[in-house]
Amino acid sequence: MIDVLVNGAAGRMGREVVRTLTAADNIRTVAAVDPGHDGRPVDDGAGGELICSADLAAALEASRPAVMVDFTHPDAVEENLRLALAAGVHCVLGTTGVAEERLRELSGGAPDVCLFVAPNFAIGAVLMMRFAQEAARFMPHVEIIELHHDHKADAPSGTALRTASLIAASRGDAPASPGRETELAEGARGALVNDVCIHSVRLPGLVAHQEVIFGGQGQTLTVRHDSIDRTSFMPGVVLAVREVVSRSGLIIGLENLMGA
Ligand code: NAP
Repeated sequence: MIDVLVNGAAGRMGREVVRTLTAADNIRTVAAVDPGHDGRPVDDGAGGELICSADLAAALEASRPAVMVDFTHPDAVEENLRLALAAGVHCVLGTTGVAEERLRELSGGAPDVCLFVAPNFAIGAVLMMRFAQEAARFMPHVEIIELHHDHKADAPSGTALRTASLIAASRGDAPASPGRETELAEGARGALVNDVCIHSVRLPGLVAHQEVIFGGQGQTLTVRHDSIDRTSFMPGVVLAVREVVSRSGLIIGLENLMGA
């Protein structure tokens, strides 16, 4: 049995994680943390409830989980990780917006436990990134459009940043990004990350979507992934919870747990 604390349990992702882990074999949700929901229940999807706590340190001490799953906020996540790793608790991190360098520092302070980070827990998104990385070897002219719901805190998305980094690692010299010097409105050509243009769309009605568009002579190629429901992320979260307990150190990307 793997005991799990869910951090951000009252959020859009956290609620789905509580329901999913409660239904999973050999996993037990032992604590729920969410400061804005202190003392209030979260439905576990199985006819029961978990009462949220506001105090992560106290919840770690009281419930002694093997794993913390964190879907909170970029401003809160570093402190959350610091507390959990110091308590010897493996971490499954879904919250985006933390620089890789910072993750490395945090993980380095707790070498015996695993800090697993997935910019995207959906299998289709992992494949989209892989196909984009492969295409970039042959079609180096590429731009990313990522589209998310209007409550997303960070931009560009963690998935877009990861995709840009994978593209940069696989293509040779980056072609110039044209039109930047002649923008009529600032930002019209998007953000340049690893020499890849990223455009961030935020609209109600969206969940999490990304297009990677390659341009070549007389042709384009588009690789697109759509998470139309947050359940798309749940098999990846369950896999990560099962895997981290037998691993250590920093691992970034679901592909590293899938044997893919
Ligand atoms: P959300 O609905 O705003 O949920 C976040 C929850 O965390 C809220 O209930 C929030 O409370 C709470 N929270 C804030 N500070 C906290 C703290 N210090 N400790 C514990 N809980 C805290 O956001 P979401 O849509 O679930 O997304 C959460 C994160 O997951 C975002 O960074 C998002 O980009 C990321 N995400 C990742 C993936 C992936 O596959 N890796 C997929 C989807 C989303 P308040 O509302 O009171 O502030």
